Amino acid sequence: MTQETTLGLTPSECALQARARAFSLEVVRPRAGEIDRDEQYPWDIVKALAGAGFLGMTMPKALGGQDASFLDAVLVIEEMAKSCTVTARIVVETNMGAISTVTAYGSEAQKKLAARLVLEGDKPAICITEPDAGSDAMAMSTRADKHGDTYLINGKKHWITGAGVSRLHFIFARVFGEQGEDLGVGGFLVVRDEAEGTPKGLSVTRREKTMGLRGRPEGELTFDNLEIPADMVVMPPSGFKRGFAELMNAYNSQRVGAGTVAMGIAGGALEHALAWAKEREQFGRPIGEFQGLQWMLADMQTQLTASRLMLYQAARSRGPDGSAFPDPMIAAQAKIFASEAAIKIVNDALQFFGARGYSRDLPLERMARDVRMFTIGGGTAQVLRTLVASKMLGWKLPQTRDGYAPKPSNNPAKNPAMRDAAE
Ligand code: FAD
Repeated sequence: MTQETTLGLTPSECALQARARAFSLEVVRPRAGEIDRDEQYPWDIVKALAGAGFLGMTMPKALGGQDASFLDAVLVIEEMAKSCTVTARIVVETNMGAISTVTAYGSEAQKKLAARLVLEGDKPAICITEPDAGSDAMAMSTRADKHGDTYLINGKKHWITGAGVSRLHFIFARVFGEQGEDLGVGGFLVVRDEAEGTPKGLSVTRREKTMGLRGRPEGELTFDNLEIPADMVVMPPSGFKRGFAELMNAYNSQRVGAGTVAMGIAGGALEHALAWAKEREQFGRPIGEFQGLQWMLADMQTQLTASRLMLYQAARSRGPDGSAFPDPMIAAQAKIFASEAAIKIVNDALQFFGARGYSRDLPLERMARDVRMFTIGGGTAQVLRTLVASKMLGWKLPQTRDGYAPKPSNNPAKNPAMRDAAE
């Protein structure tokens, strides 16, 4: 075992962690390699997670959830990720991200719909990224045109996790009114239901050939006059114009979840490396007796503990506006640090195994492929650094070439507009 301290967890949080650890070892670990090899979504694990009460934990009790905290979810995610990244991601996306957004801003009917689907085992799909709008999400061209009581959605999203397996889809599109006026960016709910079939106008047009995380599909979705009733618009009180920023604020919890998956993979890899350091002998002694490896172990553990502290703090934090979601600044720092540290920890853990680490018979190569994604998805490490810097400076830091216009001066002392707090 790696160094285990409670890091300020309460007895009930420790008990939840222990329950999640036992589940991960008994139910998830034996399936992890197969899920990766077969590239099949693990419906058996989803059913087991639902039975154990790990899906929709953070939802309010009134909706069938457990009113669990984000930290509770983080503890479960960390344990799952030590065994299987795909399973951990399912726990993230049924407790954070889209479900947090709908719970915060959805109508009563939308909340009930989302909660029912999640408790039945659905992992909602969030649809933001487009071929020409990645980090620059606001450049999205998918459009929703209002026609009476419905919206017609047209466009394309790609790298959508769960494409083809998710039922609930949370689609972001640029909204146009009846007269063609640009209203801003809105979020729309649509359900792809196995019983009733895929809604007309929603198709999965490609599955990505991913490096890791192979047991769940990443896909391209095409919307061709997809008709969505107006009561399926998820609208914060500010309306469409500022809506995207607010919906994304609620989605921010997902960043903490993603950082935790990376940290959990690293924790799992370190456990393997530590056990092997005691078992494998060369030069007539366990390889753990070599100081070269001892110092690697110490560095790996130090990085892991720092990641854990940052993520636990991020999960406990609340936004400066007192919102129910993690503070964007703390969450961004935690994700940057944990995702980059995890890539290094897993890479070093693989090194402990020599040639064996490079084999597909051991989980290290799978972990190395899986962990690579976490500086990319859900806000790249570069874009998150821009967010952190803009908060530090207290300036908006527009990234478009013309974003600095009008440009009388870039000196905030002379240009009050640059003193506005960054989004
Ligand atoms: P680009 O935006 O093209 O960036 C390319 C490079 O340029 C990156 O290194 C980036 O950091 C850098 N860069 C870009 N702008 C700046 C800047 N201003 N300053 C400094 N550097 C910059 N999206 C969804 O909507 N839903 C999903 O479910 C989903 N799941 C995903 C799952 C996986 C496994 C992956 C890999 C991605 C997923 N994504 C999803 C997409 C993900 O959110 C995007 O990949 C991410 O936002 C980056 O966009 P991009 O890939 O187009 O890269």
